[in-house]
Amino acid sequence: MVLSKGYIVVSGCKKCGRCRTVCPNSALKRTVDDRPKIDHDLCDRCMLCVRCCPNKALIYME
Ligand code: SF4
Ligand code: SF4
Repeated sequence: MVLSKGYIVVSGCKKCGRCRTVCPNSALKRTVDDRPKIDHDLCDRCMLCVRCCPNKALIYME
């Protein structure tokens, strides 16, 4: 499988926490304000978090 070279950004997060429960690589870290912060070294761009966010707050940037 060839990994894409893009990355995920967070915009408009409502702090539900769902994304952190689906990431298979523990790449979404909880910040002090409860919004996720993505560890780009751990993220393999599987897109699970992008698909699960009810607010479309995780956006894939190429
Ligand atoms: S699933 Fe979306 S709204 Fe919920 S914490 Fe993650 S980025 Fe924020
Ligand atoms: S794209 Fe996949 S690996 Fe990256 S933060 Fe989201 S769920 Fe985790």
